[in-house]
Amino acid sequence: MKMDLYMPVRVISGENCVRDNSHLFRMGESCVIVTGRNSAIRSGALDDVIDVLCELGIDYLVYDRICENPPVSVCFDGGQTAYAAEADFVIGIGGGSPLDAAKAIAAYAANPGISPDSIFNAEKLRPSLPIIAVPTTAGTGSEVNPYSILTIDDEDRKKTFNSPYSYPKYAFLDPRYTYSCGSDATVSCALDAFCHCIESYNSPKSTYLSELAAVFGAKKIWRELEHLERGEKLSPKTRERLQNAACAGGIAINATGTGFPHPMGYNLTFNNGIPHGRACAAFTGKYVERCMRDETGAERMTKFAIKIGATPEEIAYRIPRLAGVKLTLTEEEIASFIETVGAAKNFTNSHYAVSREEAAEIYRELFSE
Ligand code: NAP
Ligand code: FE
Repeated sequence: MKMDLYMPVRVISGENCVRDNSHLFRMGESCVIVTGRNSAIRSGALDDVIDVLCELGIDYLVYDRICENPPVSVCFDGGQTAYAAEADFVIGIGGGSPLDAAKAIAAYAANPGISPDSIFNAEKLRPSLPIIAVPTTAGTGSEVNPYSILTIDDEDRKKTFNSPYSYPKYAFLDPRYTYSCGSDATVSCALDAFCHCIESYNSPKSTYLSELAAVFGAKKIWRELEHLERGEKLSPKTRERLQNAACAGGIAINATGTGFPHPMGYNLTFNNGIPHGRACAAFTGKYVERCMRDETGAERMTKFAIKIGATPEEIAYRIPRLAGVKLTLTEEEIASFIETVGAAKNFTNSHYAVSREEAAEIYRELFSE
């Protein structure tokens, strides 16, 4: 069996893992900490990281301007800031948005003369500054892959920056940092992680190792689904399981990329403000249904479902129901969505490859009056 696996991230998990491994932060004399407005503080992660940096005598600057779905312009500005501060490394703290932004900022800081758009010509870039990732959501798995999903300014469209230098060197997974995530955000992030697992397993690029990660992650989330459906306060054990599952999903998509629910979901995020995980999971039912139309696709999907203790039909029903996306799209909106979806690399990353016409049909099936 052929395989080409590159996953150079050292993942350290468990309560207090930042303080217990403080020596690993000795990566230079100064750094930039990339965060959103509140979560790094609310989660307790920023305090832990700053304490460690102070203990080691490392200078730091907090760049806290990262919003959801980070735009290229903000990351470019962050990169200039990191360069001016002569940062030796970058620490991303937060959900997928700050972690993805940290990867772009680390690239811009190491390539100060480039234009904002040049980041997408990754092969022409000098190696990024080293990155440490400290996730505060259990969803994207950004801490273990090189993807930096950026928003093109003024275009309502996402584009992925991806370079071999964008993998974090270390990922610190302390489940306590996710406790402050409210129920809505927790559900959306768990759905995102589930989507990574199912879309990775059912990608033609999957390998036996990515399958292991995908099944591990999906099974854990599937077992916690009842708690998520009830909107309960989650136990520390559940939080830890969700965090491990999200990390496994990140490892799975590192090998395979995602499938069509992702690019189709991006449009609902931009156009309708639906959070990333819910937006992707809204398409899981249609994804399962389409995969089942192909012989290999059906075999793979059935095997995946059995391995996580479900049936394809149960997955197709429960995941979109939990996503709970209710909206109506006009024909004009659908037509504009198809333009961006069709150009995405991951649009056809499944055994049953949907056409643009079918994607329009799926939008109509789900969201027309
Ligand atoms: P996010 O966009 O990083 O954050 C969403 C919201 O949750 C923000 O308001 C954030 O607050 C808040 N938040 C984060 N952690 C919290 C905590 N512990 N307590 C309270 N609030 C918290 O959410 P995300 O779903 O993790 O990331 C989505 C982004 O990741 C999208 O841009 C998506 O395209 C990308 N993504 C990347 C990958 C990848 O492989 N790299 C995969 C899937 C998705 P603050 O604003 O204060 O931080
Ligand atoms: Fe995702």
